[in-house]
Amino acid sequence: MLAGAPRPVGFVPTMGALHDGHAELLRRCRAECPTVVASIFVNPLQFGANEDLSRYPRDLRKDQRLLEREGTDVLFAPEAGDLYPEGFSASVDIGPLASVYEGAVRPGHFAGVCTVVLKLFHIVRPDVAYFGQKDAQQLAVIRKMVRDLDLDVGIEAVPIVRAKDGLALSSRNAYLSPEERGEALGLSRGLLRARALFEKGERSPDRLVEAAREKALAYDYLAAVDPATFGAPAPGAPLLLVAVARVGGTRLLDNVLLG
Ligand code: AMP
Repeated sequence: MLAGAPRPVGFVPTMGALHDGHAELLRRCRAECPTVVASIFVNPLQFGANEDLSRYPRDLRKDQRLLEREGTDVLFAPEAGDLYPEGFSASVDIGPLASVYEGAVRPGHFAGVCTVVLKLFHIVRPDVAYFGQKDAQQLAVIRKMVRDLDLDVGIEAVPIVRAKDGLALSSRNAYLSPEERGEALGLSRGLLRARALFEKGERSPDRLVEAAREKALAYDYLAAVDPATFGAPAPGAPLLLVAVARVGGTRLLDNVLLG
């Protein structure tokens, strides 16, 4: 796609409805790569039948302004039919990591993510791609795909960008009413409380999980996991607290990396 572009070519894949979390990925990419490519594609393969594909927020004009502001060189914004023409049937399965936690709640989600990211890597041919720590399991899944399939792409993780009140920025926050947003704050509040406890020396995964739990929230899951495998955390190794809560009809993802 970009023969002759100055290397390294950095790539930031997104689903649009861009916010400052995406901007942070672009800034990292801009600082490290002479060529910055972004994609916007609301990937139907990663949405389940009863999910929010049709109402997912879309505003290409506004997104283009943000991309320009952040010095993006190339925007790739294909239509579904460009990536998945009639008869398309491939799917990338990276194994058990794709079927726990987020993968258990959303069967097929990570196969959809891997399939589109692999296609985008083949089209854009980046040297480095940037992913947010916000979607921690997605990051682990992509790293596993790159390793298992010998892809020649570096994967860089960017820390979670939060609003002043602590809520992790997400395109889906647009679904929240003001009351729901207040309720949603419990998610990050709990996780940040657990982080404070970790910083005081607490190392028990169970106690950290309990510290993170907000009574009023309906969690899909709240757990301490190994950040690469999403299995049980090894003693003394970095530990990831992952949480998904349902507020109104919206699923909100958040996590903190400890150690
Ligand atoms: P999305 O458009 O939601 O698919 O996200 C595109 C990329 O931006 C993914 O790598 C996300 O992890 C990342 N991202 C989304 N929100 C944030 C955030 N608040 N902080 C850091 N990265 C984010």
